[in-house]
Amino acid sequence: MTGSRDTTVRDRLHRPLQSMRISVTDRCNMRCRYCMPEAEYVWLPRDQILTFEEIARLARVFAELGVTKLRLTGGEPLLRHELPTLVRLLRADERIRDLALTTNGILLARHAAALRDAGLRRVTVSLDTLRADRMQGFARSPRHADVLAGIGAAQAVGFERLKLNSVIVRGYNDDELVDLLAFAHDHDAELRFIEYMDVGGATQWAIDRVVSQQEMLDRLGHHFGAITPITGDDPHAPAERFSLPDGTTFGIVASTTAPFCAACDRSRLTADGQWFLCLYAGRGIDLREPLRSGASDAELTGIIRSAWTARDDRGAEDRLRVSERAPLYPVDGLRADPHREMHTRGG
Ligand code: SAM
Repeated sequence: MTGSRDTTVRDRLHRPLQSMRISVTDRCNMRCRYCMPEAEYVWLPRDQILTFEEIARLARVFAELGVTKLRLTGGEPLLRHELPTLVRLLRADERIRDLALTTNGILLARHAAALRDAGLRRVTVSLDTLRADRMQGFARSPRHADVLAGIGAAQAVGFERLKLNSVIVRGYNDDELVDLLAFAHDHDAELRFIEYMDVGGATQWAIDRVVSQQEMLDRLGHHFGAITPITGDDPHAPAERFSLPDGTTFGIVASTTAPFCAACDRSRLTADGQWFLCLYAGRGIDLREPLRSGASDAELTGIIRSAWTARDDRGAEDRLRVSERAPLYPVDGLRADPHREMHTRGG
């Protein structure tokens, strides 16, 4: 299978352990309503946050088991000091073929060059709206101009294949589908529209705020003409890609209405070392405790291998079968365990 090596460990549905999202902090400098709509949050204790050396050690163990793709995320990963140092440590392992970062872009102009110099290859910037007033209202941040500057800096320092992520929420930004595509095209970036997901943290989620992949395609087709699906991409990629009649390409991540659990090779490591095998999983596997109590690499490998080979999660498909879909957790449930939050798990 594409990208797999002989050592790749597979789960009960034959899905490889191949791609990891590593959250380097649970803190964020935005308060997007689909992710962090509340006024107050419970943060992970600082002494439990993994050091860069601890993250790099775990990454080496994961690489031994077949992981080739890492994405640094958060929270907002650029809030973590000295992130280029971590990039350097991770780049030192040649088994990691793809190292990327997902950021809201606010601090990217300040850090882009150092990250590129440290060996970061790819960046995805979240950009939900082209209108500063909308970002202020919806994400409670006045820093739209900084996001645009971050996108400019990402281009200037020469990251490969710049991507933009837009979560589409009905009544917020669903009238910007065409404008966001045009912006991405003008900035030599590829846009990913993301369906609004009922993940932990999305306490204002409601099905009527979701704009489905099909509706997005219908609306874009109406505007641009025939849209062609692109075939032959990595079968594990979360986005389906399409092309407009003028050749502009874009993707849609349809996790809410057309989940891709059958091909999901992703797992997530929180900033405090909890490993989640599914975005919707009720609990994670504690890797910090064995790491800090002196476990050998072989012991860590054993814990990870046995968890992955037992994996049968299909969280997004399970959600699809829920008849009266509502937010995954009430606010109290999130406060009781911050690991349920998307900003802790790492999007
Ligand atoms: N702060 C960084 C950023 O903004 O990209 C990284 C973390 S953020 C949690 C990662 C991604 O998750 C973002 O693209 C964000 O839009 C997406 N996300 C968060 N909550 C979501 C939801 N309820 N539905 C769909 N996507 C969501």
